[in-house]
Amino acid sequence: MPRHDGRSASDLRSIKIKRRYTKNAAGSVLIQAGTTTVLCTASVESSVPPWLKGSEKGWVTAEYNMLPGSTPTRKARKVDGRTTEIQRLIGRSLRAVVDLEALGEQMITVDCDVLDADGGTRTASITGAFIALADAISTIELPDPKRPVFKDSLAAVSVGIVNGAPVLDLDYVEDFAATVDMNVVMTGSGKFIEIQGTGEEATFSEEELAKLLKLAKGGIKQLTEMQQKALGKKWPV
Ligand code: UDP
Repeated sequence: MPRHDGRSASDLRSIKIKRRYTKNAAGSVLIQAGTTTVLCTASVESSVPPWLKGSEKGWVTAEYNMLPGSTPTRKARKVDGRTTEIQRLIGRSLRAVVDLEALGEQMITVDCDVLDADGGTRTASITGAFIALADAISTIELPDPKRPVFKDSLAAVSVGIVNGAPVLDLDYVEDFAATVDMNVVMTGSGKFIEIQGTGEEATFSEEELAKLLKLAKGGIKQLTEMQQKALGKKWPV
């Protein structure tokens, strides 16, 4: 069965990335996947949380929010369980590719605010957050400028089983109809950082899992190329 928007199983939605979208934050990226739109800003502070004081290590953390008008029914401005889970996922994912010692004692907070939600907001947040973080890190003084801060790049994409078929980058219509729903976070060099996969009202086989991961890997490869193009000479890995 063809996908409702005419894409093939392995097609991403149209991805748009705009750097320096707002003025004040050191990194500011608007990322769009179809109509899902997220603003990712990265702000630097010259101090770290108390438990890292004197450690000569930095910290990278993230916050995520869906703005009230980003969903068909107004989303109240509060931090619920889903929000907490997603912001922790974004922070963990970013830290997986950052050498915190190379950063020195400074903290970067990446804020991901969903302007328009149509499925895949956490994965778009992660893909955009990496670019905002790279931009922010390029503006700061490092203890050893020769020591790379990034060990790898990272991006994320959703995959799922819709109408019995594995597909890449689900929008809300597909997410709603999916029997298996998975978010995959990977490095640009093809290693996994995190996989969140759920069989909703259905189970899935090892064979289906392999197909989903293959689709995700293809998606991440394309997203990595887009990130690289967006950052140009600032590509940090
Ligand atoms: N959604 C919504 N209100 C909510 C949570 C989700 O309208 O409170 C919609 C939104 O379009 C979102 C989609 O459901 O993108 C899928 O949500 P999910 O929790 O799976 O996270 P996402 O795919 O956005 O990372």
